[in-house]
Order: sequence, then C-alpha cells, then structure tokens
Amino acid sequence: MNLKILILPGDGIGTEVTRAAVDVLHAVAKKFGHTLELTEGLLGGIAIHKTGTPFPDDTRTKAQGVDAILMGAVGLPEFDSAPPSQRPEKGLLELRSLLDVYANLRPVRTYPELIESSPLKNHVISGTDMIIVRELTGGLYYSQPRGIDENRGFNTMAYTRGEVERVTHTAFKLARNRRKKVTSVDKSNVLEVSQFWRKVVIEVAAQYPDIQLEHVLVDNAAMQMVLRPTQFDVMLTENTFGDILSDIGGILAGSIGMLPSASLGAANAEGVIKGLYEPVHGSAPDIAGQNKANPFGAIGSVAAMLEYTFGLIKEANAVNDAVGKVLASGRVTADLKPKGTPATTDQVGKAVSEAL
Ligand code: NAD
Repeated sequence: MNLKILILPGDGIGTEVTRAAVDVLHAVAKKFGHTLELTEGLLGGIAIHKTGTPFPDDTRTKAQGVDAILMGAVGLPEFDSAPPSQRPEKGLLELRSLLDVYANLRPVRTYPELIESSPLKNHVISGTDMIIVRELTGGLYYSQPRGIDENRGFNTMAYTRGEVERVTHTAFKLARNRRKKVTSVDKSNVLEVSQFWRKVVIEVAAQYPDIQLEHVLVDNAAMQMVLRPTQFDVMLTENTFGDILSDIGGILAGSIGMLPSASLGAANAEGVIKGLYEPVHGSAPDIAGQNKANPFGAIGSVAAMLEYTFGLIKEANAVNDAVGKVLASGRVTADLKPKGTPATTDQVGKAVSEAL
C-alpha cells in the first residue's frame, strides 16, 4: 500500500518526537512492504518565522492532498502575549477546521510497566483503559462571537444539533468494540449549551440500545478520573472540557508524553477517513532542544494512523507491541525514569524501530 502522509513537526519538542515517530513509520513500512510518500510542511511558530503566518497556504494545499497528517506540537514562548489570531496555536485550530476533523480520540491506558511512574496509587490506576472522545471543531474554541477590548473579553460556547450528533455517533460506535459504555460529560446544571448537548446525546443513544449511557458533570468527571478511573470506557465531551480532562489522562498513563491522539472526520467516497494524528502534549519549551522528550505519544499516534486512516490493523498492533517491549526493557525518557539513566528521545525511537 502507498501511504500519503504530510509531516508537520511544528515547534519545540514537536520536532524531536516527530523525528522519532517518523523513524518508526519507516520501520513499520519496511517490515510490512508498504511505500511511504512523505511531504513536510510548516505549522505554528516556525511557520510565523518563515512565512509570517501560522498556517501558510503551502501547508493548506499539502494537507488537502494527503490521506493523513502527522503533527508534533505548536507553540513558542515568544508568542505568549500575542493576540489569539497571531499565535502558533491558531495554525493548528485552522488545520483542524479545514480538515473538519470533528472527533478527537484520546486513548488513556495504564501500562503495567509504568505503574510506578504515576503519582497516583497503584490500586487506583491499575487496569485503566479509557478513551476520551473530544469534540474538536466546535464549542468554546470556535463559536462566535468572540473578542477582546479594553474592558471585556468574551467567548461563546455553542453547538448545533449536527455537531453533537456526529461526534456522539463516533463515541457510540467505538463503545461497540469496547466495554459498551459511554459517559457523556457536560455542565448541564449551569449551561444551556450543555442541556442541549445532553438532550441530543440521549436521542442518538436510542439508536444504540446495546450501549450503556451515563451523564457526569465535568467537575465531578475530573474528580472521578483520579478517584476511580477504571469506571470509564468511552468518555464523550465538549472541546474545552476534553482538552482539560485529557491532561488528567497524562497522570493516569504515567506522563503526558505517553498520550497519542487521532482526529477524525467523516469517511470520503472511497471509505477513507482522513485523519490528523498528534500527541496530546504541547511544545514543552522547558525541555525543548534537549533530546529528552518522551516520544511514545507521537509513536502511538503513528499506530492510530495506521489503524484508522489506512485500516492496517496488523501494522498498528505491531507498533503498539514494539512500544510495550521497549517499555518493559526500561529504555524510557526522564519523565518516566526519575532514577537511573534515562534514554534520549532518539534512542527510544530507535529502540521501537528495532523492536519492530
Ligand atoms: P506542554 O504539554 O507543552 O507541557 C506541560 C508539561 O509537560 C511540561 O513540564 C513539559 O515539559 C511536560 N511534557 C510535555 N510533553 C512531554 C513529553 N513528550 N515528554 C516529557 N515531558 C513532557 O504544555 P504547556 O507547557 O502548557 O504548553 C507549552 C506550549 O505548547 C504552549 O505554547 C501551548 O499553547 C502549546 N500547546 C500545544 C499543543 C498542541 O500543539 N497540540 C497542546 C498543548 C499546548
């Protein structure tokens, strides 16, 4: 199979973890006899530096011509006080919107090998295996009106029926192949938009009588994730809530660097689901350029790409198995190894490629 992929390393540790993930992509393609057609593009702070905009036309064109995109992370401290419209993150929001990737899948697992890396007690996190389905192209991050003036800053959280329906279908279809439970997270005790969200979720759920549906308020959901994370299977939620809750997932998995993500839209006429694949973490300026970032989230995103966009399940499993072997061997970066000599980002990438 020929895999057409755009690589967007972005900023900070984005470039480092992407390099490791691309190494693994080459290794898995070689092992299973696939060809890679890789192009590279600019996104985020580096794009502002080189072209004056976080999402250049060249990247837009390239993104439209591929089946899948592998992204690192965007964000540079020098733009921290820039207005939202001129920040590196704006490029990522525009990319997600262009691709119409409305469902962001964020699996959170506790690996037995990493159980000591989490600050939470072993018996609490042991067996955690959940997936957060975050709505990605609507809600608080996109709704209008939004703005800032001298005396007021404001945003809007709004959802249309169609936006809620399509991401709810994604969550319920996923639950069918898992433990058959969907937890919808909202703030319906305060927000009208959440009351609407809940109503539509209940309507869609009627089409999936084999799946159990429960509703949890977002503040309680945050607490339950650290109290008893094993109760969750598929967690469905709004854009901002999902963004925040998935960072708690980093604590459950041992490090935010462990978490992959897949952002998916609808299938095209040929049945291909175009996807944007990226680790959950940001550009981590505090450790950028030191070759110490954990690349497993980026490598897991490669596995997700093989599975969801290319339908290559064997290949995806092979990558995940190789990750398991490297974790078991103890060749991990400093975030997972407070004592002893940690491996570098490059070494972890190489170890996964060799394990393949
Ligand atoms: P961050 O995820 O970059 O870092 C948070 C903490 O986790 C830091 O201490 C960092 O060192 C650590 N960390 C993150 N990824 C790691 C990895 N792979 N290995 C080891 N440690 C890791 O979040 P932040 O500091 O809030 O944001 C930094 C920049 O990244 C900001 O500009 C922010 O807007 C941007 N950001 C981008 C994305 C994205 O591109 N999808 C997501 C989140 C934040």
